[in-house]
Amino acid sequence: MAYKDTLTGLPNRRAFMDRLGTTLTDATSAAPLFFLMLDIDDFKKVNDGFGHDVGDQVLIAVAAILREHSHGHNYARMGGEEFAVAAQVADAAQAQALARTIVAAVNSAQVCGLSLSISIGLADHQPQESLLSLMHRADQALYDAKSDGKNRYAMARQVVMVV
Ligand code: GH3
Ligand code: MG
Ligand code: MG
Repeated sequence: MAYKDTLTGLPNRRAFMDRLGTTLTDATSAAPLFFLMLDIDDFKKVNDGFGHDVGDQVLIAVAAILREHSHGHNYARMGGEEFAVAAQVADAAQAQALARTIVAAVNSAQVCGLSLSISIGLADHQPQESLLSLMHRADQALYDAKSDGKNRYAMARQVVMVV
């Protein structure tokens, strides 16, 4: 169980990072790589207002949605209420469609009568870009999505820091 998150059954951070490292060093992986950083909106309010058990049910529900829509991609619960997807798709339009689909699916789900929403930061991997830089840009885009009002995705700025 070293590669699984016990609450949701999703792959965990370690599984995700291992697979992502392999993808980045594999010269034969032709399709562009996109990194999605996901964070449930106002999750603390769920825990504080309805209890930790309801919070856990929300995490399980979001994990199920992610599993359904990220099939074939590398995805994980990274920790807390944060998830990630690394998707190799044809172009940015397809990656944006995936982000939009996940945002919409979470927003149309209900857990114990509660409406949910999630925000996503989306970064496209640049040639030679380090994993650290890619994740950092996705994190910044996630911050942008939150400050723009949540329940949405935002694209990362294309600043590359080659380490
Ligand atoms: P934002 O919309 O800006 O993302 O705000 P937020 O409330 O979602 O974010 P914040 O980081 O303040 O809260 C995250 C909460 O997630 C705090 C922590 O107690 C809770 N949490 C982390 N892991 C678990 C878990 O396994 N189960 C439950 N029920 N809660 C968890
Ligand atoms: Mg968070
Ligand atoms: Mg959150």
